[in-house]
Amino acid sequence: MLNIVLFGAPGAGKGTQSEKLIQKYQLQHLSTGDLFRMHLSNGTELGKLARTYMDQGHLVPDSVVIGMVREKIEAHKDSKGFIFDGFPRTVPQAEALDEMLTELDLSISCMLALDVPEEELKRRLVERGKVSGRTDDQDPEKINTRIQVYRNETLPVAEYYKKQDKFIPIQGVGSIDEIFDNICSKIEEHAK
Ligand code: AMP
Repeated sequence: MLNIVLFGAPGAGKGTQSEKLIQKYQLQHLSTGDLFRMHLSNGTELGKLARTYMDQGHLVPDSVVIGMVREKIEAHKDSKGFIFDGFPRTVPQAEALDEMLTELDLSISCMLALDVPEEELKRRLVERGKVSGRTDDQDPEKINTRIQVYRNETLPVAEYYKKQDKFIPIQGVGSIDEIFDNICSKIEEHAK
């Protein structure tokens, strides 16, 4: 099974590259941001809870995220693999993911980390906000908070995978296809 953590700041291109990767390798896409947005639009209790954090650009509590991911992994444990997009975003989430996968006799193959300079991230998020309808992309203050939260709470997750020798940096600036080709060659080299 090919289980990839696609890592990077908000606006790094995780969603875009995930779409291409799931097609090429027939993987199950597990985007916690998308799952929360689905709960929001369905008006579930989980969605209402998540909204209070998402609206501020803060992280949803680990226990809530982990429970939601567990359900999704269990429902698709027979797939060819997973792309984890926007998860894990804290070290406790990364630890919980390892535990969940170990229980199923699975493991993470690698972390692919998209590297994009901060000014470019902000530019992309503002552009996305014009078309996506995502309110968290339309407010410069929320964008700044999310990048700050990424630096403080999420960057340590890269260290977690470096220690396991699973960290693969990817240049995240360039054309979508160039970046995708680069990702695929790293997967072929390291993870298959
Ligand atoms: P994203 O679509 O990945 O940018 O996520 C949008 C928002 O959903 C984030 O700003 C967080 O509020 C929340 N969220 C998504 N994934 C996670 C996660 N793994 N842990 C905590 N909060 C998350």
